[in-house]
Amino acid sequence: MIPPTPAQRRNTICVLKAEHSKQLKIEKALAFANRPPCPYCAQKHVYSVGVKSQIKHYRCSKCRKSFSARTGTSEYWIHKKESFRHYMTDMLSNGHKTLKQMCSEYNISSLTAFDWRHKVLASLNCNQENFNGLIELRNSIFKLSWKGSRKSVNDFELSNVHIIVSADHNKNTALSMVRIGNLKTSDLEAHLNFNFGENPVVVGRYQISFHDFSKKRNLGATFFSKTNNPHELDDKMSEEIENDLRFLVQNKAHGVSTKYLNNYIQWLLFVKSKKSITMHGAHPAWFNFTGTEHSFKQFFNCFSDMPYFRTSFRIWKKSTETIASSSIKNRLTISS
Ligand SMILES: [Zn+2]
Repeated sequence: MIPPTPAQRRNTICVLKAEHSKQLKIEKALAFANRPPCPYCAQKHVYSVGVKSQIKHYRCSKCRKSFSARTGTSEYWIHKKESFRHYMTDMLSNGHKTLKQMCSEYNISSLTAFDWRHKVLASLNCNQENFNGLIELRNSIFKLSWKGSRKSVNDFELSNVHIIVSADHNKNTALSMVRIGNLKTSDLEAHLNFNFGENPVVVGRYQISFHDFSKKRNLGATFFSKTNNPHELDDKMSEEIENDLRFLVQNKAHGVSTKYLNNYIQWLLFVKSKKSITMHGAHPAWFNFTGTEHSFKQFFNCFSDMPYFRTSFRIWKKSTETIASSSIKNRLTISS
């Protein structure tokens, strides 16, 4: 066998080096892909900095904050993690139980029971994004509630909260809180940014905002009213969802502060759909939970004609309103 010439050897080494660096790049990309994105700024390029308390820790290359895979999830800052997991399963499979019941079943204080409930709900995102064929739209009106503010009802201006129920015949449903006060077409445009399949037709009780919305989105539309319904149309599917929400909010929870209404909407949709959902990842529950007041303020400023009134002054150590607002914005964009 003829030994390779020096030139051939150099060539083989070059080929091997190129192959090695290619392989390294693939392995590096794989390692980074398996790391969770930064919960503070969503940066995907994060460094692994070791293991602490059996959990991998990382440092973000952009904002330099360190975090673990648990940071920002609903389990973040929870000491009785096992208990919390049972509590979560209980809530999501059995639906609403009173906080008093949960306190005695899990041996926790009422504030913890309340926080756990909303930490679980803040991680849900069950609105559908795709609708097809005949799509029912229904405007459900709830009274604006400041429950828990420890102020008299007479201290506040009365107003209506508009929740649009969307439903099609493939059991796709969405409930979107769109306005406090008088409903406008622009509220529907801002919140009902779903994907509509081929030849979508909106069906609903006539109201000018539904009519204008369908026109602007180039959707077919058929409306009916009490006195004018020649095709005997109805909106039974969306009516049923509205009734379920009313039952949950009014009969089971005995009223819910409007600030938390979106959380209860997600709960209802989850229990009804029985779909599996991602509890962590794209919607960091901790930031949604600690940013509830801030996101409600944002909603209020954009979709209400009344002045906002702050009812909670709780402050969390590992949360800033900027971080919270960016994650809430992300959640709202996806879920509405
Ligand atoms: Zn970061």
